[in-house]
Amino acid sequence: MSNFNVAGSFNVAKFGGTSVANFEAMSRCAAIIEKNSQTKLVVSSACSGVTNLLVELSNGVQDKARREELLSQLADIHHAILDQLADPVAAEKEVHTILDSVASASEAASFQTSKKLTDHLVSCGELMSTHILAQLMRERGIPAIRFDIREVLRTNNNFGKAEPHLEEIAQLAQQKLIPLCQEHVVITQGFIGSDEEGNTTTLGRGGSDYSAALIAESVQAAGLEIWTDVPGIYTTDPRIAPKASPIPEISFSEASEMANFGAKILHPSTLVPALRHQIPVFVGSSKEPEKGGTWIRQQVESSPLFRALALRCNQTMVTLRSANMFHAYGFLAKVFEILAKHKISVDLITTSEISVSLTLDQTDTSGGAPELPEAVRAELEELCTVEVEHNLCLVALIGNNMSESKGYAKHVFGTLEDFNLRMICYGASPHNLCFLLHESVSKAAIQKLHQELFEK
Ligand code: ASP
Ligand code: MG
Repeated sequence: MSNFNVAGSFNVAKFGGTSVANFEAMSRCAAIIEKNSQTKLVVSSACSGVTNLLVELSNGVQDKARREELLSQLADIHHAILDQLADPVAAEKEVHTILDSVASASEAASFQTSKKLTDHLVSCGELMSTHILAQLMRERGIPAIRFDIREVLRTNNNFGKAEPHLEEIAQLAQQKLIPLCQEHVVITQGFIGSDEEGNTTTLGRGGSDYSAALIAESVQAAGLEIWTDVPGIYTTDPRIAPKASPIPEISFSEASEMANFGAKILHPSTLVPALRHQIPVFVGSSKEPEKGGTWIRQQVESSPLFRALALRCNQTMVTLRSANMFHAYGFLAKVFEILAKHKISVDLITTSEISVSLTLDQTDTSGGAPELPEAVRAELEELCTVEVEHNLCLVALIGNNMSESKGYAKHVFGTLEDFNLRMICYGASPHNLCFLLHESVSKAAIQKLHQELFEK
């Protein structure tokens, strides 16, 4: 057993793709790390754009010229940073080895793709960025050391969306990671892990936030900093409502609702490990660290009725109507049995006496609207009529004690009186009130609600 017991004494800082996009961006990360001597563990994404290039290669690019073009784009992104280092030789050698393996794996993928090969390929972005970031930090006098997180972050072999093995991760972190943090600032990869056989796995697109949280949990960090390209969590997306304002402090439950309801700032799984170990999470901009950011904690000073508005588009609503549902029992059970059999996950649901409406969960990270597979539809049609609607968006009003408060519904619904609300969900969670609207009016609904509830 290790003698080290530094639990709770240091911070984990995670930098996203835009934060490590180029030499200047990486230098800003280094400055942030230098400023806080508590930061002992750094989790980095791939340089901005790199994962997308790798994904394209992993899908199998038959055209050799196109493949070479992608490979040279990858090389260019990394060389642009290496060229600005004082002593790039060692890092360059490592990056070249990885680029070579990308080239051969891409060729293999052009013959036959597999999820395992894809994970091997897409992991290369983080493997490269961390070599460069560690070297850049050493050149600034930070005692940085690069660590391959696959030695610690054990997962199952569900390639593309691997699940972490928490106990093993905690044990390996205690053995391998914590001792390294005594004398070094450890630079490691987000997004990637390894299965029992040593194959590389990934946690899903955008997964490095989740990695950082798992790592923070495994070393029982005092805090987790997520450095991205926006100065914290806003009351809503400022691109939709320009008067949206940053939220200095928010609770885990509210922030989880926001992530689940589509606020893009955090990967929805991120907060789970942080919450399990009550590790406060900070979200800020590595471009403008002086602007501060948002703290996500268990206990917050104020818990306003309305905290934020989130928007999630590409919603698919399925309405099931059965003449036999009237006073019958077992209809919902049958519906859900069919959905469960086909592994269809449901998001929102409302019911009336003879019908039930539900929205389908976004199952993959493609960003497209989820579809009701034909086979499922056919089975459901033996039971009831099935109607599927696309082009819907979900607007979620997030806050506190909603189901126990009075008097505000009039205000909220009054604000939305000109909108056709396709579905309303309320009551199951004290933290949200959601509406489903047509895509064409969803932004207007956010703007109007923001103006009424947050700007007055
Ligand atoms: N590089 C990965 C991606 O682009 C993981 C991450 O950045 O969170 O999805
Ligand atoms: Mg990201």
